[in-house]
Amino acid sequence: MISTQPLRRGAASQALTHPVISVVAPVYNEAPTLPLFCERVIAALEPLGEPFEVVLINDGSRDGSMDVMRELHAADDRIKAVNFSRNFGHQLAITAGIDYARGDAVVVIDSDLQDPPEVIPELFAKWREGYGIVFAQRSEREGETWFKKATASFFYRLIRKITNVNIPVDTGDFRLMDRKVVDALTSMREHHRFMRGLSVWVGFKQTGVEYRRAPRHAGETKYPISKMVRFALDGITSFSYLPLQLATYFGFFVAMISMLALVAVIILRLAGSQANFYGQASTLVSVLFLGGIQLIFLGIIGEYLGRIYDEVKRRPLYIVSDVLGLNEQQAQEPDV
Ligand code: UDP
Ligand code: MG
Repeated sequence: MISTQPLRRGAASQALTHPVISVVAPVYNEAPTLPLFCERVIAALEPLGEPFEVVLINDGSRDGSMDVMRELHAADDRIKAVNFSRNFGHQLAITAGIDYARGDAVVVIDSDLQDPPEVIPELFAKWREGYGIVFAQRSEREGETWFKKATASFFYRLIRKITNVNIPVDTGDFRLMDRKVVDALTSMREHHRFMRGLSVWVGFKQTGVEYRRAPRHAGETKYPISKMVRFALDGITSFSYLPLQLATYFGFFVAMISMLALVAVIILRLAGSQANFYGQASTLVSVLFLGGIQLIFLGIIGEYLGRIYDEVKRRPLYIVSDVLGLNEQQAQEPDV
């Protein structure tokens, strides 16, 4: 039924149709950026002439980001929000966003304006051409330290080498995904989620669009070194057993060397050599060396074991305290 009552901005399209495009953005202490972010997203989406929604996920911000979201939602109900009970992390915020998003095409974008919303129409055009996933690939990164760029570049190349999912280099989470891809992703409820790997893993036709990564609009990165290392480990352990297999390779290598040494010692002894091959120092060094290697591999097994433990506990991925403009039950968390 079409109401003749004056409607708030956006309400008409919302009441009549479901969104074609959902824009999902995780938010952690981005209060100063949010109004401009929403303004730029809406300015980029409106010319497309399709109904859309912007789903913001407040990942336990402590800077009043949620109040800003309430104001934005009150002014335009196409802006919706999911409010987490605490900080669950970037990857889980994205997960919640795509759980709640209802669009035929879902765009994941950072809310700090490092990913320019003006690229969305380009992603959308590629989706219209029939691609299931359209990555936004950064051709340049401004305003980031050389350390961040160097570690990111090393990490993306490493993960490509050691895993069999072809994660395109230099892509973040900024991408557009078709409903089919999103449904596949929401059916995966693993805890240590490396979303950019999972979205490639599901397959479908994929392509990329280049863009220049801008500096943050305000605030600073929420990825300190410790979080970056965790994130990299999640990426590697969710897609590769290589770290575990290294123990086998190394074991064979050491066994082979010691066999050769044993044969050499026997031959030398038979030939009548009195040389003492194993002084205290060399014994100590080799024992400590192998002890160290064993501890490293125990640690690696521990990384996998801890992750298995987290999966076995089957806790929910995130806890929602309240939602704006969305149905509380809307997230399709499948029963696993
Ligand atoms: N973010 C989040 N939860 C976190 C950390 C970050 O939702 O625990 C959001 C943050 O608000 C931003 C995006 O994830 O929109 C990317 O984070 P950030 O810009 O700090 O990472 P960087 O761009 O420096 O890699
Ligand atoms: Mg950022």
